[in-house]
Amino acid sequence: MDQVNRVVIAGAGIGGLCAALALAKQGVEVVVCEQAARLGEVGAGLQISPNALKVLRQLGLESELSQFVFNPQYAAIRDYKTGEYYLKSPLGKQAEARYGAPYWHLHRADLHQVLAEACTQVGVEMVLNATAAGYRENTELKQVYLLLEDGREFGADLLIGADGIRSKIREQMLGQERPTFMGQVAWRGVIPVSDLNIDIKPDACVWVGPGRHFVSYYLRGGDCVNFVAVEERSDWLSESWREEGDVEELKRAFADWHPEVSELIKSASSTFLWALNGRAELPMWSKGRAVLLGDACHPMLPFMAQGAAMAIEDGYVLAKYLSRCALDDALLKYEQSRKPRATKIQQMSKANAGLYHMHGGGLGKMKLKALQAAGRFVPN
Ligand code: FAD
Repeated sequence: MDQVNRVVIAGAGIGGLCAALALAKQGVEVVVCEQAARLGEVGAGLQISPNALKVLRQLGLESELSQFVFNPQYAAIRDYKTGEYYLKSPLGKQAEARYGAPYWHLHRADLHQVLAEACTQVGVEMVLNATAAGYRENTELKQVYLLLEDGREFGADLLIGADGIRSKIREQMLGQERPTFMGQVAWRGVIPVSDLNIDIKPDACVWVGPGRHFVSYYLRGGDCVNFVAVEERSDWLSESWREEGDVEELKRAFADWHPEVSELIKSASSTFLWALNGRAELPMWSKGRAVLLGDACHPMLPFMAQGAAMAIEDGYVLAKYLSRCALDDALLKYEQSRKPRATKIQQMSKANAGLYHMHGGGLGKMKLKALQAAGRFVPN
């Protein structure tokens, strides 16, 4: 195969836009087809660890993003009732000195907007209301065509499937996937600090309790608090960022927790509910002129806060190999360098699934040790 001059990307999420920006900066013509009617992201937070930030820095976005961030001072693991610290590991300046980049909290919408603007500035073409249905390849013409539900087609030298957890591109390439429901759901929400009657510590905090855990951290310079509340239950199977949950149910589930949790939740006026599914490693990430990245090829449980970080890394690394090698070689090198790393993080995230939950009244020594190791792990 040969050089890549034009790329079509299915999905304008965080991974798709990172790939688009990196490619366009290299002079590649890029078209992004997004199913949504307008560009934007859901109201939720992201922990952006140094590994992801180093990529965003390479893409020239660090300074623009820095105005929206919150810099947590500690990664903490605390007892759901007493607030006792099981772990308090420094982030802030210490993490920056150690890993070469800070650990940030960012609102998804802010990251997405900065990425989208940067893409527009370098000439990426965004096509909205463009839902991918599949693709076809013409080997003679050395072209791949993204097929949309409305019948339109977009031809290119390469198709990138960055269409998330229910990827149509992955489905055509590898067939229907079989996720395993983990028996857990995640509630999430963002609360303005002006609505709170309690001070929340400026940490990236995981509160561990019986059959549940709760993650809280500040966003937007401390203007709001993001929460993700994970509960063991089996009656909710929808896996969508936009599915509303019952906020009263959430309040009841965490009512007897430490005031930093229960008071925080009391201020929530709405919440979203997401069923947590585990997935296995895919046999391959590309076939012919189609390649996958981000959640389309390695969806992971949120227990290491690395899904977006891996999608960001994928986009950048794929673009790098495409600038240096012919297409077939670039796709091979991309998979060889990315798959072991993403799979390891995917597996570690899955292994952490029960780690943050007490069973039988407490944590136990073994679990405490594993929990502390997990809490200190920051990929770089
Ligand atoms: P997505 O962000 O899902 O983007 C896919 C895009 O494709 C979307 O714009 C979608 O509209 C579009 N699309 C879908 N289907 C089609 C179609 N057929 N045609 C056209 N367009 C389509 N990660 C972190 O790094 N840090 C965190 O702190 C963190 N917290 C999380 C908390 C929770 C509760 C969860 C569930 C996840 C969390 N993640 C976190 C993971 C992270 O959200 C995902 O891994 C990341 O968004 C994946 O990016 P992506 O671009 O691959 O996919």
